[in-house]
Amino acid sequence: MYIKINTLKELENNLSYLNTDSFSVIEKAYDYAFKKHLNQKRLSGEDYIIHPLNVAFILSTIHADCDTITAALLHDIVEETDTTLDELESEFGPSISKLVDGITKINKLNLSKENDSEISTQRKILVGMTEDVRVIFLKLADRLHNMRTLWALPVENQKANAKETLDILTPIAHRLGIGSIKSELEDLSLRYLKPDVYFQIVEQVNATKKQRDMYVSKMIESVSNILNEHGIKHEIKGRSKSIYSIYKKLDKGKKFNEIYDFLALRVFVSKEEECYQALGYIHSKFKPMPKRFKDYIAMPKTNMYQSLHTTVFGIDERIFEIQIRTYEMDKVAENGIASHWSYKEGKSDMQNSMEQKLQFFRVLMDLNTTTDDNEYMKSVKEDILNDNIYVFTPKGDVIELPIGSTPIDFAYRVHSKVGDTMVSAIVNDNIVPLDYELKDNDIIKINTNKNQSPSYEWINMCKTTGAKNKIKSYLSKNEKSINVLKGEEILKSELKRRKIPINSFYKEENLSKILHDIKCTDISEVYILLATNKINIESIFEEVKNETKEDLILKKTNNKVVTSPMVKGDIIVDGTSNIKVNLASCCKPVYEDRIVGYITKGNGITVHRISCPNISEVDSRIIDVAWLNVSKKYPTTLLIRADGSKNMLVNIIAKTSNTNIVVESIKTLQVDELYEITVLTSSVTELNKYIFDLEMLSSIISVERKFL
Ligand code: MN
Repeated sequence: MYIKINTLKELENNLSYLNTDSFSVIEKAYDYAFKKHLNQKRLSGEDYIIHPLNVAFILSTIHADCDTITAALLHDIVEETDTTLDELESEFGPSISKLVDGITKINKLNLSKENDSEISTQRKILVGMTEDVRVIFLKLADRLHNMRTLWALPVENQKANAKETLDILTPIAHRLGIGSIKSELEDLSLRYLKPDVYFQIVEQVNATKKQRDMYVSKMIESVSNILNEHGIKHEIKGRSKSIYSIYKKLDKGKKFNEIYDFLALRVFVSKEEECYQALGYIHSKFKPMPKRFKDYIAMPKTNMYQSLHTTVFGIDERIFEIQIRTYEMDKVAENGIASHWSYKEGKSDMQNSMEQKLQFFRVLMDLNTTTDDNEYMKSVKEDILNDNIYVFTPKGDVIELPIGSTPIDFAYRVHSKVGDTMVSAIVNDNIVPLDYELKDNDIIKINTNKNQSPSYEWINMCKTTGAKNKIKSYLSKNEKSINVLKGEEILKSELKRRKIPINSFYKEENLSKILHDIKCTDISEVYILLATNKINIESIFEEVKNETKEDLILKKTNNKVVTSPMVKGDIIVDGTSNIKVNLASCCKPVYEDRIVGYITKGNGITVHRISCPNISEVDSRIIDVAWLNVSKKYPTTLLIRADGSKNMLVNIIAKTSNTNIVVESIKTLQVDELYEITVLTSSVTELNKYIFDLEMLSSIISVERKFL
């Protein structure tokens, strides 16, 4: 049974691990929250303040820092009362208001009933955690107290909450090593998701409790005597298995009376070596069961858990599971990453230590590159949160991977460099194929060679999205550099053919003119365009000869008399005065586009892109025009072809972030295959950069500017 508190005093009694000067801010937060929630009740009928108070209390049991306890007391104020974040910040400072903001954002998402909200909530939770893990501690404690009072909610809310808890929050609690919260959340979730199963297990456990307690206390006495004989100071506690863990075993097809570790003890000693000594003495008296011994001290779990586990034939021929650990290890087992908090330093210190200590974190951050929530959550669930296997490096470090992983996944999880240069894998002393499916406890050695590189086939030979992404990114980077070389070769052989000296071509002034004329930012971009046939080599030399299309058209127009240019809006019209200028709506020219004017009948001049099929080069109505540099945005429409991948819209829009491009409208012309997007852009340079970025997406086939 859990402890419920009703007063600030009770909370403070549990905060002895904090400096006493923390108490004034905690008391201030309590008073503030008390007043704000004054006439509010929870659905359970209790005064609202009981909720934040108990959330803070739960956090105090895992020794959360002062900021987190303070934020816990204030965590529902922005959502449930008229208090603003600004008020909170001026009262309690930015670090508290940031924490409250974080938890408010996560909680708010739960309320929306839209389709994808579940997925985006889950992502917010995970991303929030990589920014400041204390937000997740708040979320876990908030959820735990809500689960304890879940009976007050309608049944469908009970089930939805329980399901979300099991899907996302308990796996996170487990990965963060917070055993105490994880286990209670699991039991409560089962209680509401499958009440009949839950209560059946509770009944069976209770029916056998008396007998079990008797065996356990006899065994404790016996083990205690052995340890005393050898002068090892210790404490022993009986340990009851959680309802959820029994459920998991029954669910795997075990019968109730086949579950071994019903009778379980935990032995606490002061020093690491005493763990091994105690184990030896216990084994010398009680025969261990084969293959049930685990040394998590020498090889800690990936969530930092340490302990010795053994199963022995104990008194009265009963089988006992025994865990042996130091008090320090126990603190880590119960409080996880929170046991590494240093209470003097701020967030960054803890965040750093977490990123170093938890593999889970690095993987999480690696995966946070996609803009698609569904894809992100799918890969996080598959790569981290689902059932995993544990394998070892030759040095004995544990690596956690999803079931079905291969040596390729392992190599990339160790380091991208190891993956990129891997040539072969040795598992338990045997050379295996690269698509070999790894098993629990495999020891894997990866052979590398710096001249080796990943191949396309590898993508289908690995399981994790993390590895697939890294292979793809290597290949696309590589493809880019191959295209640069290829394009350079094309250009140089053309120079040779035209007998243009290389040096003179690459002269600063010539080069910058060419780059400007074909709207590229550097020469390697030109190489890529050449290699991928996006521009014709002729167009480069047209520029060199200075004989542009405009020149040709100008020669063909009747306007031979060139007067000083006249400014009309953003376009300079050559040789004409006082005339109306419009931008053509068929080809939608933007600043820096190569343009020509077309003299309409009675409606001034319409400006077209030179490549617009609606105008003919030889038309006598064509007139030379040029851009005047004014800061203004022009609309233009792009047709985007994709390969049928889902959710491309998000990616298409995402590529405009960090640019000045504004999306005016976007239409799906053919689901997952053809899109039309109208954007506002200030220049062709900017537009081409966006098109280039889109084309670099593997699922996009082509992007073209539209003509009507
Ligand atoms: Mn709450």
